[in-house]
Amino acid sequence: MNEKFDAIIVGGGPAGAAAALTMSRAGLSVVLLERGEFPGAKNLFGGVLYRKQIEELVPEFWKERNFPMERYIVEQRIWMMGKESMVTFGHRNEKYSEPYNCFTGLRVKFDQWFADKAVAAGALPVYETVALDVIREGDRVVGVKTDREDGNLYADVVVIADGVNSLLGKAMGIHKEWEPDEVSLAVKEIISLPKEKIEDRFGLEGDEGVTIEFMGETSLGMAGVGFLYTNKETISLGVGVMVNHLRDKKVKPYAILDAVKQHPMIRKLIQGGETKEYSGHLIPEGGFHSIPPLSGNGWCVCGDAAQLVNFVNREGTNLAMTSGRLAGEAIIEAKARGDFSAASLNAYDQKVRSSFVHKDLKKYKGMHQFLKEQDPELLFDKLPRALNEAAYNMFLVDGIPKADKQKMAVNLIKGAAGGTMNLMKLGYKGWRAMNG
Ligand SMILES: Cc1cc2nc3c(=O)[nH]c(=O)nc-3n(C[C@H](O)[C@H](O)[C@H](O)COP(=O)(O)OP(=O)(O)OC[C@H]3O[C@@H](n4cnc5c(N)ncnc54)[C@H](O)[C@@H]3O)c2cc1C
Repeated sequence: MNEKFDAIIVGGGPAGAAAALTMSRAGLSVVLLERGEFPGAKNLFGGVLYRKQIEELVPEFWKERNFPMERYIVEQRIWMMGKESMVTFGHRNEKYSEPYNCFTGLRVKFDQWFADKAVAAGALPVYETVALDVIREGDRVVGVKTDREDGNLYADVVVIADGVNSLLGKAMGIHKEWEPDEVSLAVKEIISLPKEKIEDRFGLEGDEGVTIEFMGETSLGMAGVGFLYTNKETISLGVGVMVNHLRDKKVKPYAILDAVKQHPMIRKLIQGGETKEYSGHLIPEGGFHSIPPLSGNGWCVCGDAAQLVNFVNREGTNLAMTSGRLAGEAIIEAKARGDFSAASLNAYDQKVRSSFVHKDLKKYKGMHQFLKEQDPELLFDKLPRALNEAAYNMFLVDGIPKADKQKMAVNLIKGAAGGTMNLMKLGYKGWRAMNG
């Protein structure tokens, strides 16, 4: 295929499909290249999608009959796990009903639906095709080499949206191989349960859904977070742990998920369920300082391939879609100028810089270093355990005066942190890390 296009998009995930949709609608000739049989065929995530960023591309999408929503989320819970207990935080609100704030989905259905929008707008789908490298003329990217026989594709701009492993990003030297502390490895099971059981167990009506994020005993002393999300007739259950911690402790991620499933608070929620799928995937967690340059001579990079993940708030798909859309907009403007140089495409970097994507990642820019410096046993084991013991004692009516209980609770937490000064330092550093 020697025809030249306006843009080739490598990767049919949320970032790539958003870029393809934006440009196709503006009349640009666009190829959407995807290695899977169809977009989503090989993709995995926890399960929460956000309305706002999809709506910016597909207004009132949730009213479409074939929109693949599992459940809209009315309640988000955060659990600090002890051995046989938990301390809970969370928020439930009927206002999240319509329009939704966020909802659960399955990538195999969602990515296909989303990429189909780009195809309907005119993007040329080239699936079951792996991009192997970019083609250069001098220092300018002019196309993509694929694994097809007639495999070279040419375009004014190549949009790299090939996810966290980003073969192209590495081949181009946009970034190096991610360090083990820049990625976490997540494993996930999809567990089937009858609809009525899900509604009873989680206190839901109709298509309402709940998300639970949990940390503490369940990550076996490593920096990690678990998740349990309700779908229509399944539960998504998983856990992600920093790769450097898995390596240091020589623990296999499925061993952690097995332990999670045995925890009494989780076991009761999935009881009677049958595991339908099991999969693993990396999550970029390098944060602000790991973001590479976002564009150059004839190229832009979006989504996970550019580390655009806000792991503090478990947001990735919405940052991917927004970066894809902004890359698309910048390329439309570049085409109007007839200039696809690095200086011209830098408009994309500027757009990302002015958006919530950059601002949120900047806010948490200290988090990666904070987590790197702290003893994971303290944050993910000792403190949650102490919190649970303190809560147990506070709620226990046993004749001990409340003032003594309060003192005991404070001492438990201080003790876990290694004293008042350490606790104060930890709180201060944590606050700084969360507030860029
Ligand atoms: C376990 C887990 C839980 C998560 N939970 C959430 C969540 O609840 N909410 C949330 O918002 N985010 C979540 N995320 C993050 C989210 O999944 C990502 O941020 C998002 O999918 C990034 O989109 P993307 O388009 O950049 O990359 P991807 O979704 O990875 O898409 C990349 C696409 O490129 C294709 N591809 C790759 N290489 C090539 C190649 N060489 N040639 C052709 N095609 C190629 C792939 O097949 C894929 O379709 C989670 C991630 C994981 C792993």
